[in-house]
Amino acid sequence: MRINIITAFPKIFDSFFSESIISRAQKKELLSINILNLRDFTYDNHQTIDMRPFGGGPGMILMVEPIYKALLSIYPDAVNDVKKFRNRDRNKIVLTSPKGRKYHQTIAMDYSKLDTLTIICGHYEGVDSRVSENFVDEEVSIGDFILSGGEAATIVIVDSITRLLPGSLGNPNSLMHETDQQKGIHEYSQYTRPQKFITKDKKTLSVPKILLSGNHKEIEKWRNFDSAKASN
Ligand code: SAH
Repeated sequence: MRINIITAFPKIFDSFFSESIISRAQKKELLSINILNLRDFTYDNHQTIDMRPFGGGPGMILMVEPIYKALLSIYPDAVNDVKKFRNRDRNKIVLTSPKGRKYHQTIAMDYSKLDTLTIICGHYEGVDSRVSENFVDEEVSIGDFILSGGEAATIVIVDSITRLLPGSLGNPNSLMHETDQQKGIHEYSQYTRPQKFITKDKKTLSVPKILLSGNHKEIEKWRNFDSAKASN
């Protein structure tokens, strides 16, 4: 899968994408991440990417032209018809926005099946609305709060998709029984060594005994009970 990220702050992604599962997925060529710096698509000496909004109001918004040019560099055939940015086969162009469709696990699963996902990161006060009106398939919000930019939202989206790509997790069974808030499913509680952990104020925190019993049937029963409890 290929993920294109259009951003005014490309360095934000460096450390996150070079660690752990995302780094491994890139090395295994399950995922290729292409970061496009908005300033590379400007036409003036100052590399201007943002301007004050028409009609007044606080702050700056990202301009339409650098975003358009960045998109054209990915989808050159849209030069003759701007409508070609949208509704492409196994491809989506997404704008991060607090006004967008709420991101959740089912969307992550849908995105993980695409060939190409292109994510546009807004910043400052937002993005010229001609971008969402004309170039993108959808706007996506990662929650009911306002971030300072779409970069953190993009990291969340890329992370959640990457672990769904076949071969990216050490053990594919990790994807089974996972929490899915949308479906009301919650993973059972899990523990590891030591069996008894003693805090500095001498409290003993122990592991449920059944998990140490080796009785797999009973353990499964306990886990089902525990995850049902968490779902209520
Ligand atoms: N003034 C805008 C908010 C701009 S926040 C408003 O009131 O709607 C700046 C940028 O951060 C946005 O363009 C978007 O790309 C990103 N962003 C902020 N909150 C977000 C969220 N909850 N989900 C996804 N992206 C978000």
